Amino acid sequence: MLAEDVRALTFEDYVATIRAFTDEELIPAEPEMVRLGEVPPRLVDRMAGLGLFAITLGPEHGGLGWSVEQQVLLTMEFTRASVVYRSRFSTTIGLVSQAVAAHGTEDQRARLLPEFAAGRTVAAFALTEESAGTDATAVRTTAVADGDGFVLNGSKRYITNGHWADVLLVFARHEESSALSAFLVDRTAAGVTTRVPEQMNGHAEGPVAEIDLVDVRVGRADLLGGVEGQGLRQAMRGINHARIHVAATAVGQATRLLQEATEHAASRHQFGQPLLELGALQSMLGRSYAELEAGRALVVDCAREFDRVGPPRERISAAKLYCTEMASAVADRAVQVLGGAGIVGPHAVPRMWRDVRALRIYEGASQLHERNLARALPTLLSTSDERNPHA
Ligand SMILES: Cc1cc2nc3c(=O)[nH]c(=O)nc-3n(C[C@H](O)[C@H](O)[C@H](O)COP(=O)(O)OP(=O)(O)OC[C@H]3O[C@@H](n4cnc5c(N)ncnc54)[C@H](O)[C@@H]3O)c2cc1C
Repeated sequence: MLAEDVRALTFEDYVATIRAFTDEELIPAEPEMVRLGEVPPRLVDRMAGLGLFAITLGPEHGGLGWSVEQQVLLTMEFTRASVVYRSRFSTTIGLVSQAVAAHGTEDQRARLLPEFAAGRTVAAFALTEESAGTDATAVRTTAVADGDGFVLNGSKRYITNGHWADVLLVFARHEESSALSAFLVDRTAAGVTTRVPEQMNGHAEGPVAEIDLVDVRVGRADLLGGVEGQGLRQAMRGINHARIHVAATAVGQATRLLQEATEHAASRHQFGQPLLELGALQSMLGRSYAELEAGRALVVDCAREFDRVGPPRERISAAKLYCTEMASAVADRAVQVLGGAGIVGPHAVPRMWRDVRALRIYEGASQLHERNLARALPTLLSTSDERNPHA
């Protein structure tokens, strides 16, 4: 269980605790994380102790019971630090725990969710394959019924936390019906092997994994929800939740990038004045702040709607698209403001510039969201809704 003193905090006090943890422990430890090539284990323990694995689950599952709005406000705080810290627990708290909470059997929920919330069990979400990237329906991993369970065969790639997770949520296709199901697989089960790539261009300290499954046996009790053929619907529950968290992550990253760029522009002098006095830089920094605040407002508004009526799919897509593109633009301008220091040496800005680039690819590439939004426009623009001036 979590320390009772964390549970007793009001939301305002909890945010203040996470803000202090970010400023005093996570951000200062970034150089150590880069040297080690992974999140220092003591910080993973601290994140679990402070309840960061518990922010998305209700108290009935051992969680802290924060609303989606509160979750995104928290995310905007701790993602001012390297996005890799968040990746260490994001697949447990979002993609996997939300699918299990919404679609798991009574036994799966009771067995797994309190362990996720306490940070004792790390989970990874294994959907992507060589043939199934943006087109998640093209999964080739197979599940063949065998006695009272199934045998899984296939390969997954780009799986966050796949190398050190305890549980993998594996999506596989039934050979008989060709329907997709999700299976809870023990990462140490016979036939499961994982490896990390030699090079990551961004998220370097949290490498994704390739996973091979060779004749891996799972029981019927490991089929998520106990019903075959529900895999895509179950995946989407986790994905919609993860997308709004990625949008909030982009806001957190852009906040830090803008802060770093502004500090540099205020302290470095050229032509006898601080860079901050140069109109060209003012244009980049001022524009960045306006875009950052637009992104922040969109995410918070979207999260409020999530709390009111459930995941607003298109608005989550819009927030994910806008905020991740915004963070990349802010990162690019921050590198420009730093000049040579943005390319040479250990400054945080170029590392974050590489990190935020990935946000436009995972949880649906920007072009997928553009396509989905364009297709939904006729409905979106005709919906009678207090937010919609076109209705
Ligand atoms: C750091 C990182 C972490 C990840 N973590 C996970 C994880 O934990 N679990 C998991 O299952 N997966 C994970 N992924 C995989 C991620 O979801 C996929 O990379 C993503 O869905 C894109 O698939 P792809 O890489 O095969 O690109 P492709 O599908 O080959 O697409 C390449 C590009 O083509 C364009 N494109 C493709 N389809 C369309 C379309 N229909 N319309 C318009 N444009 C299109 C887009 O620009 C896209 O970027 C991760 C990826 C990264 C980089």
